[in-house]
Amino acid sequence: MSKLLIGYLYKEDLNLYGDNGNVEVLTARCFGRSIECEVLLIDKGKLTSHNRLSEINLLFMGGGPDSSQKSIYGDFLEEKKPFLLDYVTSGKTGLFVCGSYQLMGDYYRASDGEELKGLGIFKAHTIHFGKNKPRCIGNVRATLTGKISSDPVFKNVNFLEDRIVGFENHGGRTYLDPGAEPFARVTYGHGNNSEDGSEGIILGNCIGTYFHGPILAKNPHLADYLIAKALNVQELPKLNDGFITASYAASKKLR
Ligand code: GLN
Repeated sequence: MSKLLIGYLYKEDLNLYGDNGNVEVLTARCFGRSIECEVLLIDKGKLTSHNRLSEINLLFMGGGPDSSQKSIYGDFLEEKKPFLLDYVTSGKTGLFVCGSYQLMGDYYRASDGEELKGLGIFKAHTIHFGKNKPRCIGNVRATLTGKISSDPVFKNVNFLEDRIVGFENHGGRTYLDPGAEPFARVTYGHGNNSEDGSEGIILGNCIGTYFHGPILAKNPHLADYLIAKALNVQELPKLNDGFITASYAASKKLR
């Protein structure tokens, strides 16, 4: 089986609520299967300094406060956009959490009204309504979109169900363009905007989501799906996930 090379964007700037844990979960679930896994940290600056970009098969970028988004979005737009546009449109795998999800869209109007131009790759826009609307904070649960749950690869690796759980904390409310597909449908919590029941977005094999948690620690079946898609394999060797399966089953008995 080929190697997983994770491109990790802006690790120091966008790591709210332990989003870096997602990279740790991916690494651990590869290690448990003797799949070689390496992490390439990509911070501000020209991408030409990295000569292995074409080998990246899973991109990850976390979330952060408006101030952190403001500190990276110029670099994100000027230095990373061409690479990301090619990466996403070529069907490669990626996970963008909260603040980075917002900046992958058309724009993010921050809490102070400043409009941060996004990459326009995800067909969506985000508006923070300032103090006029409460933040979207709390536990969240959603049902994965059919694009994932009906994917034979997901069916092969899934040892839980087609649900995901997590934690969200965002002031921005994201509105998908007509025709853009949500990542999931909310069954508890806010999701994109507390209005239309959508959560996140999926484009090709790239996912935008509001789930912190970190999302992959709470949803290892999703982690395995991303690994399989990144490695372009139909299934993965099973891990001993008895404890996870038991806790997942127990959680279903909770109100
Ligand atoms: N600063 C953005 C917002 O408040 C994103 C927050 C986050 O990444 N958790 O909506």
